[in-house]
Amino acid sequence: MSIAAVADRVKLNVSTRNVLTLDIERLPGRARHQHRGLTIEGDFWDLSGWKHLLGYRLPPESVIEWPRTICVAWKFYGSKRVEFASEWGDGREEMLRRTWDAYDKADVLYGHNVAGFDTKNLNAEWLTLGLNPPSPFKTLDTLKEARKTFGFESNTLASLTDRLGIATKTDKYNVEMARAACAGSKPDQRRLKAYNVGDIHASEQFVDRLRGWIPGHPHNVVGKIDDRPTCPQCWGDNLTPNGTTLAVQIVYRLYRCDDCGGNVRGAHHSRAAVTRSAR
Ligand SMILES: [Zn+2]
Repeated sequence: MSIAAVADRVKLNVSTRNVLTLDIERLPGRARHQHRGLTIEGDFWDLSGWKHLLGYRLPPESVIEWPRTICVAWKFYGSKRVEFASEWGDGREEMLRRTWDAYDKADVLYGHNVAGFDTKNLNAEWLTLGLNPPSPFKTLDTLKEARKTFGFESNTLASLTDRLGIATKTDKYNVEMARAACAGSKPDQRRLKAYNVGDIHASEQFVDRLRGWIPGHPHNVVGKIDDRPTCPQCWGDNLTPNGTTLAVQIVYRLYRCDDCGGNVRGAHHSRAAVTRSAR
């Protein structure tokens, strides 16, 4: 089956919820540090970054400039439009506020390493700005899912989408481009934007490709009038009974989703056992 056919088959069935795909780009920080009579100055992403050189973490006192988010791209599922906010286009505060608004509206968040990286960095920047936390949302982090389920040797978004035949970005992030963009270079701003926006398309298509394999996908809690069981991964109701599945003590009804292929556990069917192991 072609990639296009797979994507068509599994498009999220009902967009009754705000499903957000988001990706941030960052600029590394700068540090100047005295070590054995030498002054070392350079970029860092985190304070352990120079450990191979120094043998210890950089002390925060040596930081001249902290790493920061410089642009953000996002898209709501089902919308064609990719939004973009940047330090140079919006100003730093407005960029962070617009990003906060997108989070605040979202019920479900998609992204590659979005839980460990994007959300945490943005939280720190929102707190610094004095903002409240956005409304609660559920995260589906494709990096976590990939690591958990598959044995791919590399779990970068570029490598995974490439191996799965998903058309992906052609460019690569580099610090010089990011720094030049912040300094006002229009060609570098355009390149970074194209890269950032390209990642959004790749991320969303990647989630669609993973449907069926991501049992932790947040369910759409809005019930249907006829109360047919629905698939947690694509929210469709094309479920075919597929026998039962056994938990430790209870047998549950099992369905196969005809849209995304996911295994769906239904309501309690019967008790598997009336006894338990004694420990
Ligand atoms: Zn499904």
